[in-house]
Amino acid sequence: MSAPALQLANVSRAYVQGDNVVPVLGGVDLTLQPGEMVALVAPSGSGKSTLLHLAGLLEKPDSGEVFIGETATAALDDGARTRLRRTDIGFVYQFHHLLGEFTALENVIMPQRIAGLSFDEAKGRAAEILTFLGLAHRLDHRPAELSGGEQQRVAIARAVANTPRLLLADEPTGNLDPGTGEHVFATLAALVRQSGLAALVATHNLELAARMDRRITLRGGQIVPMA
Ligand code: ADP
Repeated sequence: MSAPALQLANVSRAYVQGDNVVPVLGGVDLTLQPGEMVALVAPSGSGKSTLLHLAGLLEKPDSGEVFIGETATAALDDGARTRLRRTDIGFVYQFHHLLGEFTALENVIMPQRIAGLSFDEAKGRAAEILTFLGLAHRLDHRPAELSGGEQQRVAIARAVANTPRLLLADEPTGNLDPGTGEHVFATLAALVRQSGLAALVATHNLELAARMDRRITLRGGQIVPMA
């Protein structure tokens, strides 16, 4: 059996503010298998961003271990963490953060070039993913020439351009009207199913959460399953 895409093992994180210690996560365990889509539905201030940052190797836990695939990351230096983030983890945010002066195709080519692919390889793969996401007719459009849903689909294409094993999404449809959000979610789900990547999706949208494989929330610094 293949390794989990993501494993948090007894992960704790607190923030120090002056003399105060604010505990956020206290001994969190979470495993995402390849191909699994998990909804993280938690109130503001409960530690959602902290959890996503830890899983995305943007922050380090105070204690515990974060595995990306079979790699334990706690002892890695910053360079190794950055490389692992680049190759194994994709991020999608509420706002697309595409580069405005570049086309959809170029926005998806770029992370692949940074990861060392040739231009032709990167271009071929960018066109393939954008086509899968229904954007074959928008390859040469700049973000300003795309609708909100199209922009977000380009952001998803960029996030998976380097075939990560893990996708972390923070309110990926939060900025879209319900119909468009539904379409973007369906496209994302199809991509997860097709590619076997694991996705952790923070959302307040209970309808979308209901369509994922599992729902979790954060309570008192612990991950608990939602009913
Ligand atoms: P969420 O994403 O669920 O809103 P966060 O993970 O951003 O929650 O934050 C959880 C708690 O940790 C909050 O009480 C927040 O104020 C606190 N916190 C987050 N980041 C920092 C920081 N850099 N310094 C101090 N406190 C922080």
